[in-house]
Amino acid sequence: MTPQRTVLITGGNRGIGFSIAEEFVAQGHRVAVTARSGSGPAGALTVIADVTDAASLDAAFTTVEAELGPVEVVVANAGITRDTLLLRMSEDDFTDVIDTNLTGAFRTVKRASKGMLKARFGRIILISSVVGLYGSAGQVNYSASKSALVGMARSLTRELGGRGITANVVAPGFIETDMTAALPEDQQKAYQQSIPAGRFATPLEVARVVTWLASDDAGYISGAVIPVDGGLGMGH
Ligand code: NDP
Repeated sequence: MTPQRTVLITGGNRGIGFSIAEEFVAQGHRVAVTARSGSGPAGALTVIADVTDAASLDAAFTTVEAELGPVEVVVANAGITRDTLLLRMSEDDFTDVIDTNLTGAFRTVKRASKGMLKARFGRIILISSVVGLYGSAGQVNYSASKSALVGMARSLTRELGGRGITANVVAPGFIETDMTAALPEDQQKAYQQSIPAGRFATPLEVARVVTWLASDDAGYISGAVIPVDGGLGMGH
């Protein structure tokens, strides 16, 4: 059985992050989420942080360490989209998405790695997306930010793998959250038809893969990209 761990999830006040936090709580772990507003599920500690601000993340980690102990499992989940076609995409549309999805993950992981190196144990899980490797018209910014997480996890694996730390990517397909609810209905229908499973997934179906990756059963998996996409991205 996996021992109880201290877990921190960024963007845990709604969507996939909230569900991941709920699942870790249900499995008996000590769980904290970061939020810019609102709060995580019952049983989780909510700390205020914005992943675009290293100082706020540092303060959040310090609070979690004081209340729950050193962070052993970190899930870099916070993410945004600013979808539009390339010629309409402003530099701010591009850099805002990179700053949150990619540099935000870097800030989170860097801060988490301090305690993990000391403990010689850690689980780093980066929430990417099927479109990171599959590509997506209108998502040049988002897709670039998500594919870069693969390079990040693999470099972390090479750098930290000898210290009992694993780093993996989870690449969800279409999951029922605010992010996909924002898509026009005809686009949602078209996506559903292209998914071999014929449906979107629930956040819980992602959460269960994340908690498994953090478990002792997955201790020899590192640098992997685990799709949770109903077959959408096969081979990518
Ligand atoms: P939501 O839009 O439902 O939630 C996004 C979360 O990220 C919110 O908690 C939000 O906080 C947080 N967040 C955004 N920007 C920041 C920031 N600067 N600092 C801190 N927190 C921030 O998204 P999902 O739950 O759908 O997505 C979660 C992750 O999964 C994202 O990385 C997304 O790219 C990825 N993903 C989602 C898919 C889907 O189909 N839904 C598919 C593939 C990947 P706040 O409430 O304050 O805005």
